[in-house]
Amino acid sequence: MEAVLELDDELWDRVQELTAGAMNPCYQCGTCTATCPLLHQLDKPFSARKILRRAQLGLEDGVEDIWLCSACALCEVRCPRDVHIVEAIMGLRALAFKARQVPPEMYRLLWSTLEEGNPWSGPRSERAKWAEGLKVQDAAAGVSVLLYAGCAISYDPRLQRVARGLVQLLGKAGVDVGILGDREKCCGDAVRVTGERGYLEKLIEDNVKSFGDTGANTIIAISPHCFDMFRNLYPRYGLEAEVLHYTEYLERMLDAGNLKIPKVKKSRVAYHDPCYLGRYNGVFEPPRKLLESVPGLALEELRENKLNALCCGGGGGGMWREEGGERLSDSRLNQVKEAEVSLLATSCPYCIQNFEDSSRRLDGPPVVDVMELMVRPERRR
Ligand code: SF4
Ligand code: SF4
Repeated sequence: MEAVLELDDELWDRVQELTAGAMNPCYQCGTCTATCPLLHQLDKPFSARKILRRAQLGLEDGVEDIWLCSACALCEVRCPRDVHIVEAIMGLRALAFKARQVPPEMYRLLWSTLEEGNPWSGPRSERAKWAEGLKVQDAAAGVSVLLYAGCAISYDPRLQRVARGLVQLLGKAGVDVGILGDREKCCGDAVRVTGERGYLEKLIEDNVKSFGDTGANTIIAISPHCFDMFRNLYPRYGLEAEVLHYTEYLERMLDAGNLKIPKVKKSRVAYHDPCYLGRYNGVFEPPRKLLESVPGLALEELRENKLNALCCGGGGGGMWREEGGERLSDSRLNQVKEAEVSLLATSCPYCIQNFEDSSRRLDGPPVVDVMELMVRPERRR
C-alpha cells in the first residue's frame, strides 16, 4: 500500500509564522540543490529543494539536514524566484528548537553565551586581554568610534593580531577608538543559528543599549558575522549608529590619504570573499582596494569570486558543527592552489581558522587577514 502523507494544518501555520513564508514562492526547479556546495561534500544526499518542499507542506520530519547548511546563500544568488532560502532554513531551525530537536553542540554554544557572553567558553573576565598594552579608550566614558572585536577575535591568540593591528593602524592615523572591554558581549550571530529566538532578542536589546550608552556614532566590526548582525538586524531594535566593516572604514581612510601602508615582500595574493561580507552585504571592493594599495602585492582573482565565491563552511553554525565545515574549506583551498599564489588573504575570523586548518593539511599557502598586510608584524608578546 502507498504511504500516506499526514498533513498537519496547525504545524503548517507554525512553519509559516517562523519562516515568514520565505519558501512560498519556490516552484521546485532544483537550482538551489544543484548549486549548493554541500551536494558534493557530504556522504549523503543534501537537497535544499526538498527541505523547502517539506516546509511548504508543513511537514516536520525529514528536515534534520537543516543543521548542515552553512548559510552561505550561494543558492539564493541562482534562485529564479528570489526565495530567501537561508531565512526559510533558519525558520525551520527555530521550529526544531521549540521541539528540542537541536544538535548538542548548539546547546553548548548557547549555554556558553548565556554564562560567559561568548560561544567559545572563554572566561568573561578575559574578553579584553587582547587589548593589553594598546592605547585604546574605555568606551563607557564616551567615544565617537566604537570598535567591536567580537568573540572569535577576543579569545583566539592568533586572531587577536588582527584587532591589535587595527588599533595600531588607526592610532597612527590619529583615530582614537574605544572598546567595551569585559562588557562586550556576543553579537548574537552564533545564537541566531541555533534557532533560539527569545534570548537572541534580549542579547540584541542589551547590546543596542550598551552601544547607545557610549554615544558612538560609528561602530566598526571586525568579523563579517557581527557586521551583518549590526547592520541588518540591530536597526530594527533601535541601533542608530553607522555600522562599517573594518575594510570599509580603512577604505575611507585610504581615499582620504590617511593611511601609510608598509611595503611587503613581492607576492601574488588571492582574496577570498567571506559570505557574510560579500554575498550578504555587497562589500567586495574595499578589501581588494586595500590589498592593491600594499606596495609589493599583486592581487589575483580566484576562479569563483565575489557573488559566486565558495564558502569556507564556517557560517550557519559550521564552526561548532562536529562534522562538515572544514571540507568546504578544503574545496576552496584547492581553488587557491590552482591560482598558484603565495598568500591567501581574507577578512573574516572563521575563514581564517578554517583555511589555516585546510592549508596545513593540504600544503597550501599561508593564510592572513587583509588587516595583517596593512601593518608591520608585531613582535611576539
Ligand atoms: S532554486 Fe528557488 S525556486 Fe528553485 S527549488 Fe530552489 S528555492 Fe525553489
Ligand atoms: S545556503 Fe549554502 S549551504 Fe545552505 S543550502 Fe544554500 S548553498 Fe547550500
